[in-house]
Amino acid sequence: MTSPAAVTRPDFDPAAARLDFPILQQQVNGQPLVYLDNAATTQKPEAVIEAISHYYRHDNANVHRGAHTLSDRATVAFENARATVARFLNSPAPSQVIWVRGATEAINLVAHSWGRSTLRAGDRILVSYLEHHSNIVPWQLIAAATGAEVVPIPITAGGDIDLAALSSLLDERVKLVAVNHVSNALGTINPVAEITRMAHAVGALVMVDGAQATAHMPVDVQAIDCDFYAFSGHKLFGPTGIGVLWGRESLLDAMPPFLGGGEMIETVSFSGSTWNSLPFKFEAGTPNIAGAIGLAAAIDYLAGLDIDAAARHELALLEQTIAMAGEVEDLRRIGNPARSVGIFSFVIDGIHPSDLGMLLDQQGIAVRTGHHCTQPLMAHYQLPGTVRASYALYNTAEDVERLFAGIHKAKRLFG
Ligand code: PMP
Repeated sequence: MTSPAAVTRPDFDPAAARLDFPILQQQVNGQPLVYLDNAATTQKPEAVIEAISHYYRHDNANVHRGAHTLSDRATVAFENARATVARFLNSPAPSQVIWVRGATEAINLVAHSWGRSTLRAGDRILVSYLEHHSNIVPWQLIAAATGAEVVPIPITAGGDIDLAALSSLLDERVKLVAVNHVSNALGTINPVAEITRMAHAVGALVMVDGAQATAHMPVDVQAIDCDFYAFSGHKLFGPTGIGVLWGRESLLDAMPPFLGGGEMIETVSFSGSTWNSLPFKFEAGTPNIAGAIGLAAAIDYLAGLDIDAAARHELALLEQTIAMAGEVEDLRRIGNPARSVGIFSFVIDGIHPSDLGMLLDQQGIAVRTGHHCTQPLMAHYQLPGTVRASYALYNTAEDVERLFAGIHKAKRLFG
């Protein structure tokens, strides 16, 4: 067992879901907490906290070392967690699921292993203006080491990837297209299956950064047909310090190891070492066992909800936000993507984003302010940063009302 059994509900009730998250039942600065920073990290349901606690109370041991009962139990729970992730992504096999610390490490793994061994001077890596720094900087580092070039894919004024511009950039020099599934700054849902078709037509691979997607929509790596998919457990109601790199088997098989150490080897001698099979070739050292178990518990928790109904609820919160924002003088939404999750980035003329963030925090409302690790995107909009409200399934219409009551109060203070 990786986690307590999922609780199935006939439909989605955000107020009931909220009760599953103990941290949300508190007051912050004298007010009931309104947590609208879910794109930075999500809160954890009781089922996840309990799964981690259960593991440490009953099963803790190192994995894959056999020899005793606790180690066997830990290994079974850890490998069951991998199988849970494989089903979640519709992976052809669990061995294509590599445990990493998070999306950042997953992308660095591909850059350092696949990129370093494959890229040559003159090759191109396309990354969009929507990318988080973690899907830009690893490619810059590997480009500097190999002589390859990182080329940005333009976006439209609304904050969608400009598919016509992408099409004109795609030629035989392009070896990889790296895009996010969902933008953390604007909420844009990118057409990753279509982008993959376009990239594959010129022989380029596709790396999808799914950090912001997994909490909001089902993900099917076979339907997308991408070559690599990365996500972080902590943005999916799971723990920090655990994430996943999913990869196409033939590519992972051919790639050299990223980190060396225990577990990733088959044999070691001073005349040379040989590598373990997938997925262990990429899992040097003792893994985050409790993290993997906690992440599987988060996936099981989601499986007990009507995820399509939850996504519709989050979109309704976004619609409510857009409507209420229309009544705030000097408020400007940044981006207006064709398809979006519940992320709303905005600025208010005359109030610095960090001042607004602080005033909202004083009212118990948590939002993110700043560049959101997307400096090229902020430069595109000629802004130092924005205020971002990002919704999860446990947010409610009342949370949105509290946000706007807070904004109106801040405007009175600054007005
Ligand atoms: N990509 C995107 C789109 C993100 O939003 C984030 C986190 N903000 C990351 C990658 C990096 O995730 P982590 O810090 O969990 O590795």
